[in-house]
Amino acid sequence: MADSRDPASDQMKNWKEQRASQKPDVLTTGGGNPIGDKLNVMTAGPRGPLLVQDVVFTDEMAHFDRERIPERVVHAKGAGAFGHFEVTHDITKYCKAKVFEHIGKKTPIAVRFSTVAGESGSADTVRDPRGFAVKFYTEDGNWDLVGNNTPIFFIRDPLLFPSFIHSQKRNPQTHLKDADMVWDFWTLRPESLHQVSFLFSDRGIPDGHRHMNGYGSHTFKLVNAKGEPVYCKFHYKTDQGIKNLPVEEAARLAQEDPDYSLRDLFNAIATGNYPSWTFYIQVMTFSQAETFQFNPFDLTKVWPHKDFPLIPVGKLVLNRNPVNYFAEVEQIAFDPSNMPPGIEPSPDKVLQGRLFAYPDTHRHRLGANYLQIPVNCPFRARLANYQRDGPMCMFDNQGGAPNYYPNSFSAPEVQPSALEYGCQSIADVKRYNSSDEDNVTQVKAFYSSVLNEEERKRLCENIANHLKNAQLFIQKKAVKNFTDVHPDMGARIQAHLDKHNSVKSKNAIHTFMQPRSHLAAKEKANL
Ligand code: NDP
Repeated sequence: MADSRDPASDQMKNWKEQRASQKPDVLTTGGGNPIGDKLNVMTAGPRGPLLVQDVVFTDEMAHFDRERIPERVVHAKGAGAFGHFEVTHDITKYCKAKVFEHIGKKTPIAVRFSTVAGESGSADTVRDPRGFAVKFYTEDGNWDLVGNNTPIFFIRDPLLFPSFIHSQKRNPQTHLKDADMVWDFWTLRPESLHQVSFLFSDRGIPDGHRHMNGYGSHTFKLVNAKGEPVYCKFHYKTDQGIKNLPVEEAARLAQEDPDYSLRDLFNAIATGNYPSWTFYIQVMTFSQAETFQFNPFDLTKVWPHKDFPLIPVGKLVLNRNPVNYFAEVEQIAFDPSNMPPGIEPSPDKVLQGRLFAYPDTHRHRLGANYLQIPVNCPFRARLANYQRDGPMCMFDNQGGAPNYYPNSFSAPEVQPSALEYGCQSIADVKRYNSSDEDNVTQVKAFYSSVLNEEERKRLCENIANHLKNAQLFIQKKAVKNFTDVHPDMGARIQAHLDKHNSVKSKNAIHTFMQPRSHLAAKEKANL
């Protein structure tokens, strides 16, 4: 029986076997002092009380009391792995970033996959977007492409982000997931229709992390060595093939193996079955951006493949499991504002909002010096700046180098070639309402041209099975929005809801009647 266990189950056994020839380490306190007894507290007499001088106990307990750091507000449940990115095609005519320098170039990477709404211990096989964040450790510092398994998102204005997430998480009083909150927000903001339709399609429950695509989702800017810019989108397509879980299978796994995706990734890598993704870009010139039928910086829309074909660039390969989960996965901090020269943000409003939000949350979750944590440290670049001190400052705090700029003492200087692309911006400063920038055309194309008949059926059934839990007025609003996408979509969802609502009302009549008949029987008995 024990021989048939997988590498994840055998981790303890394997660790012991690897160290079979070594003597066990001497057990110490956090301060490195050897410990004589780790099983019995020090007490005055055999029945206690304890003594404050038992520093073996206080050292252990005080650290235990502080083991948890704040959970990520979103993407709390995740799995991580390490590997490399290899360039297979030359894109230097678009981008000067060192990571794309020449064919064959390999750059170390870290990847974290995650669900979004669940807490750290929640089940993997739920219907939820998946995070797919990649950190490239380049010689010009880290590049973090903090993507998802969908090329789009629910909103196009970052001011809505906290409310959107609140609506998907827990009710402030009941602490339960709340279908009214979820669908109220979505129906009030129809720009969510595209992503909601992806979410309730088959790809809404991927079969583990290895069988899904990743997308940088936002529009970015690439700049070449001559200083010429283009806009760009990033795609990473799974080489394992897309595989999704049927709803019933996902529900069974959520009960029986809530860590299904984490286990699958660990075991694949541990057995040398290294997952990989082919990395592509789409490119749009600045003049194409002017005339494109949609706002090219709208995160709720894709760039059609036929107009902006996928250009192959390289491969992402994952071939190392984390040595320690907390050190390398819980503490990993992805930050879209980590961009080496050659890669820059586009005006995409949600991306611009994330440039602030991500490092801000890391400073809260991990501390001001989170970039000194080994997994976050830009170890392939020579870090030099004027930031000093702060909690948990590690290494030598940049020693005796001057801590102000400018200075006359041979301290770090700027590199003019790293200057960002400069562009003109003449526009009225105000709050622009973007809520109705065509919320349906691409959803309609997805529904009627991308999905086949069976996939359309499942999509409408999946939507109705969740929507049925919301109040009737919200259901009506949702059906109206889906009808705007395609009358067939609205009609199918309505038909499912009708079935459910009629069963619900029959049951309601039944339960309403029951107590009355009980009462009547009781009254009779009393007479
Ligand atoms: P295409 O026919 O060229 O692209 C359709 C794309 O849809 C495919 O390449 C694939 O993207 C993705 N796809 C295929 N089957 C499914 C599915 N069951 N669930 C989710 N996605 C699927 O057309 P366009 O580029 O003109 O896009 C048409 C519509 O396709 C868009 O409005 C959008 O809804 C959807 N789409 C487009 C993507 C894009 O970047 N252009 C990406 C994903 C979806 P992939 O190869 O990335 O898996």
